[in-house]
Amino acid sequence: MEPINLTEKTDWQFIDQVKKESLQDPALCYQCGNCTAGCPYTKYFDYPVSQVMRLFQTGQKETILNSRSIWLCATCETCTTRCPCEIDIAHIMDVLRIIARRENYVSEKDVKTFYDSFLSSMKHHGRVFEVGILMGYNFKSGHLLADADLGPKILGKGKIHFLPTRIKGRDKVAEIFRKFQEMRKNRV
Ligand code: SF4
Ligand code: SF4
Repeated sequence: MEPINLTEKTDWQFIDQVKKESLQDPALCYQCGNCTAGCPYTKYFDYPVSQVMRLFQTGQKETILNSRSIWLCATCETCTTRCPCEIDIAHIMDVLRIIARRENYVSEKDVKTFYDSFLSSMKHHGRVFEVGILMGYNFKSGHLLADADLGPKILGKGKIHFLPTRIKGRDKVAEIFRKFQEMRKNRV
């Protein structure tokens, strides 16, 4: 693995913010690399997960928030499981993604578009409506025919439906979204 280049001055405020939101202590990491060795996405990352931890320890805010790694992480939790220091690394990746989104650092726009379509589906239907998510994602991302070949196969097996399922408590789920958005507005 290439040694990491630390180019920024340490942003202590950023370190404190991530520590507070993740409840994890980056000082425990001694760079053993176990997390990276098990990460199935390392080959797609610009910084392997152990290097993301090093960037976090040294407060390299711009480098982390502009990285592709935080958006491409699949939250599989292999890194968390393998860490000898019991650091919940997958949760740190989640928190970094949330901060990146909040502060408008989006290096992987398609991933954010997919999350947006997923959340919109949950908010409007109270549960996942797969066809709606895919159509919303394909339309907003401009990949109009992405995975179109899979549609007939999955539909044929009755795995997904053309219309959303109406569930009880849909309004309660929408209320959770409304409250969360209100909390977020009050925090800004
Ligand atoms: S497995 Fe844990 S201690 Fe080892 S590099 Fe990853 S975060 Fe650091
Ligand atoms: S949770 Fe993310 S960083 Fe950790 S092993 Fe899985 S893909 Fe890699």
